[in-house]
Parts: sequence; structure tokens; C-alpha cells
Amino acid sequence: MSTIFSGIQPSGSLTIGNYLGALSRFPKMQDDYKCYFCIVDEHAITVPQDRLKLRDQIRSLAALYLAVGIDPKRSTLFIQSEVSAHTQMAWLLQCVAYVGELERMTQYKDKSAGKDGVSAGLLTYPPLMAADILLYSTTVVPVGEDQKQHIELTRNLAERFNRQHNDILTVPEPHIPEQGARIMSLQDPTSKMSKSDDNQKATIFMLDQPKQIEKKIKSAVTDSEGVVEYKPEDKPGISNLLNIYSGFSGKSVEEIAENYAGKGYGEFKQDLAQVVIEGLEPIQKRYYELYESDELDDILDQGAEHANQVANKTLMKAKKAMGIGRVH
Ligand code: ATP
Ligand code: MG
Repeated sequence: MSTIFSGIQPSGSLTIGNYLGALSRFPKMQDDYKCYFCIVDEHAITVPQDRLKLRDQIRSLAALYLAVGIDPKRSTLFIQSEVSAHTQMAWLLQCVAYVGELERMTQYKDKSAGKDGVSAGLLTYPPLMAADILLYSTTVVPVGEDQKQHIELTRNLAERFNRQHNDILTVPEPHIPEQGARIMSLQDPTSKMSKSDDNQKATIFMLDQPKQIEKKIKSAVTDSEGVVEYKPEDKPGISNLLNIYSGFSGKSVEEIAENYAGKGYGEFKQDLAQVVIEGLEPIQKRYYELYESDELDDILDQGAEHANQVANKTLMKAKKAMGIGRVH
């Protein structure tokens, strides 16, 4: 059976971009793959975080994974910092990575642009992400378009490690969905919707109330033509809304655009809000049941135990291949 690894940062409340690009696709994958779902809290601290908020977001993310349908009997759900092999393996991979290739990563450039005191962790984020993936001999990594470059780097690091040391790491493939791969900001449809965006109007969160969703969609930036068409280059705003509609309804963007021929943006936006609200409703209900439960802690304890076993085996092999420590 092939293995999937997916990590999401508890760097904010999850967005519908995270949902359509990642989370919504996971439950089905459990049928065909051995799955590891990880709350990557060590990635989140590459940029400043509020301690108490971060704690809450970690728990919230765990509950959301389960609320969308992750089954802890079949999949491993765990918190990255509870499996110390991740940072240890990341160090080994940092010694394989080149500074030049890390500096070329778009995420590093985007997140460091115009900031003073950028953490070294932001630069060395990709080797940590590579460690996450490689420790579990992952074959497939389901991600949105934004992570394609990091997966390519992970592949390069694995191949380089295998060549320079010993052929022990599995080289993974990215898995990028056709629809929902890149949901854009509602206020600036040329940039990605991100949970760490400061502009709350730009983002629909998975836990937003119906009224908030309606309001945000209503004020989403479009254009003055008033024709519902899918043209990502010329009409990025309305095309993004069509992608969101498609992601939640399962209909193709063409089919949806056809249904709104001759109708204005107002009606389209109203219906879109309903589709999103109805799509999120059952998830939100389950989320609130789980969030405070002891069940959630039990699941995370078991997940960490299993992940530690698997990850430590790969780490031991990697250390041995590099010649560090003693041979047992
Ligand atoms: P941050 O702003 O902190 O980087 P993020 O919203 O980009 O947060 P990540 O934790 O970096 O979220 O990514 C989690 C998963 O969600 C990844 O698989 C990523 O590819 C996917 N993803 C993130 N943003 C989008 C988006 N706008 N559209 C589709 N998929 C997305
Ligand atoms: Mg991101």
C-alpha cells in the first residue's frame, strides 16, 4: 500500500483554501493509502506566534482533521513537535541542502519580503518539511499548487542523500488536484488565500459563521463586466469564486458559468454563499463536539506513539548512513 503524508501548519484558523486544496480530499484517500496527517507546529514558529493562540490552533486543527472525516483507526493523526525525529532528521537534511537552493524558494521570498529580523527557520523550513515527508517513506504528498516547489526540493534532497550516503530514502511524488489547487484571496485575487493573511475580509475560514461568509463573499473583488465567466487570466476575481463554487458543489466551472448566463454577480454570489455555508455546516457541528473532548487527546497520544516508532526507524538508518553516533 502506498503512503501519504500531509502536514498543515497551525498558523491560523483554517481557510476554505486549505479545505479545498488539502483537507477535503483526505477522507477518501484513507481507502487507498496508509495515511499520516500531521499538525506541523514546528513550521508555524518560523514566523512569530502568540503562545496561547498557537496552543489553541493546534487543538483546533486536530479537531478539524477529524471533523472532515479522518478516521484515527485507519490513519495516524499527530503533532509534529511530539515526534522529535522530525527536527533531528531536518538537521541531517540541512547538511545535505545548499543555502542557494533554499534562498530560491518562493515561500521564503514571499514570507521574508520587507521584514526585519527574518528567522533562520524560515529559510530552513524546506529541509524540515522534507524530513516530515521522508521519515515515513512517503510515496505521495497531496498538496496545493503553492507547495509544488517544496516537494520538488524534497525529491532533490532525498536523491542527493541517497547518492551521497546510502540509498535509504523513498523519493515522493506530489499529488495536486485539478480544481481547488489554488484558491485566491477574496480581496486580491492575484495572491493566494492564506490563513496567515492579516486582512480578515480576504479569507473565508472553515469556522466562519453563515453571516460572515455571506458578507465576505458579497464584498469579494470582481470586475465591472457583470458576466459570470471562467477566465482566470482576465477575470481572476469571478474565476476564483467559480473555483470555490465548483469545489463545494462538485460541478465543473463551465457548468456553473452556464447556469448563470444572463444573471448578474449579485445572484451568483448569494448562491455561492449558500453552497459554502451548507458545505461547512456538518463539519462545524462535529468540530465543536470534538474540540473539548478527551477523545481528541487519546487520538493524538496514540498517533504520536505510532509516528514515533516509524520515524525513529528511518532516523536511525539515516544517522547510520551518515556515520554519526555509534553503531548498535
Ligand atoms: P500560511 O499562510 O501560514 O502558510 P496556508 O494557508 O498557506 O498558511 P499551509 O499550512 O501552508 O496553509 O498549507 C496547508 C495545506 O493547504 C497545503 O497542502 C497547501 O498546499 C494547502 N493550501 C494552502 N493555501 C491554499 C490555497 N489558497 N488553495 C489551495 N490549497 C492551499
Ligand atoms: Mg503556506
